[in-house]
Amino acid sequence: MSILSSTLYFVAGFIIAFIFPRLPGILITRGKGFNTNFPPHPEPIPLSPYLTQRILHMRMFYWLGLVVSIVPLAFGLVSVRWGNVPFGFGLWISSGWFLLSRLQVFIGGPKPPWTLEMAERIQLVINESKSDSKCCEYPSPSWMLSGIYCISCEKKLDDLFRPDLGRKRSDGFLMGTIRLLSTDGYPMFDAEFNKKETRIDDSEE
Ligand SMILES: [Zn+2]
Repeated sequence: MSILSSTLYFVAGFIIAFIFPRLPGILITRGKGFNTNFPPHPEPIPLSPYLTQRILHMRMFYWLGLVVSIVPLAFGLVSVRWGNVPFGFGLWISSGWFLLSRLQVFIGGPKPPWTLEMAERIQLVINESKSDSKCCEYPSPSWMLSGIYCISCEKKLDDLFRPDLGRKRSDGFLMGTIRLLSTDGYPMFDAEFNKKETRIDDSEE
């Protein structure tokens, strides 16, 4: 096998194992039927029990990726042992990297883009908007990229950046997928940008 074909096989293995464990989060919730309770991407999402539930689902698919990554890992092993060695190594290195990065959270690494804590925080804002300390007469909390705002009085209710929420993306399947693969669902918005940007703005996720 030449160097060139070895390299191509390695890269192919690497890319396949890169995409494969991320498929649940990219594919499962994007269908039309899954998003009837939400405005289309990238519009702000009103806070509701559906949203809380969606966060928990995204969290589940995120962790499901760990289970799914066993497939390329196993294929990699088979391939190294009995088939195409560079292809198998590509699968292995990519899945191994994926596993390690996802498990980092247990040793104090970055948190997943969707957490139970996030769902609870959303619920707190909902509760607040129904309590006596609500921001205005008719609170309408909505999640924009840079935080949760009340649509009625434009007050910022929470600083939580909005991650991908599993809606069908406005940038199309291909670009949306590339974007999701590069961000892994984390908010596109970062704190530095937020300091400069104070007006309510929502164009990307
Ligand atoms: Zn308000």
